[in-house]
Amino acid sequence: MGLAACGGAETGTPTPGAPILPPQVDPTQEPTASPTWIPTPIPTVVVAEITVTPECTAEPTVTSTATPTVILIVDPQPTITHDLNDIVKFDQISDSFTWTDAEKKVVKEGARRVALKLAGVIKIAHPSWDVDQFPNKAFLMVYGAQVEFFKTGQSCEKATTYKDCWGKTINSNKINVFTDSEIKDSASEISYHWTVHELGHAFIDAVGKESTDPTNPIKILETAIKENKHLGRPPEGSLWGFAGSFSAWQNSTVDSAAEVFADMYTGWVYNKWEVKIDENDNPVTDGNGNPVLTTDGQNRASFMNKHMSDWIEVAIKNEN
Ligand SMILES: [Zn+2]
Repeated sequence: MGLAACGGAETGTPTPGAPILPPQVDPTQEPTASPTWIPTPIPTVVVAEITVTPECTAEPTVTSTATPTVILIVDPQPTITHDLNDIVKFDQISDSFTWTDAEKKVVKEGARRVALKLAGVIKIAHPSWDVDQFPNKAFLMVYGAQVEFFKTGQSCEKATTYKDCWGKTINSNKINVFTDSEIKDSASEISYHWTVHELGHAFIDAVGKESTDPTNPIKILETAIKENKHLGRPPEGSLWGFAGSFSAWQNSTVDSAAEVFADMYTGWVYNKWEVKIDENDNPVTDGNGNPVLTTDGQNRASFMNKHMSDWIEVAIKNEN
């Protein structure tokens, strides 16, 4: 609560119907000049809530309700200069490795899922922003720019120490794609999970902390895994809270916090985690028909829900 200066723009024009505030008069102050002075009545409640973010580019808005309460919202939305139609772009090392339209469509769809989730979370923290109407704005705010998917023309083995992988995230705006990749639409949401997983890695770069910083998301997950190993990579045959195994809901088998985080990013984007199964192999549901999560599933969901909104704010403030 409280008023904060914002480039001198805090004096917003009230919308029609909003009460005009009276001049400030201290009723405890006795008048000294005139014996016929009558104190001016003061409205009972005037509440002003102002949230100010560092950038002040938009005009503040004043909203009013039927009560004498005035709520000032000064929460300027970051200006997006990038083309809203394209949140991902495609390039390649040479014409031998061009992208097919089908591959582009799959990657775009994965990115769209991420944009929708980010928009939903950002809207809760910033109700005056229009990210619900333009989810791509949410994506561009967080990632700072379009994310490029770049075909290197190399195999995973040649480019990395791993035998088989589809890609490697270079930074918040670039994901290398190897010749091992098989990006195709299988008419299932699972088609998009690899893209979402890579965007999970890119999100870490968008948050922008050095890997040794204790507030780095990977460090925080590492610490959490030390306290509860079921937040880490499950052994074969177990899910430990993931909604499925490799390669449906886990796009890596690597037992590192960075790879586990990228898979938990997918779980968070879809809000899908391991659910309880009854004796007939049917999902257990609550009174509203929603699936009941296993303890491990709930723990993974809680970890992401607890931290992601804070990390998103850091990513938005970062100039990537
Ligand atoms: Zn990965």
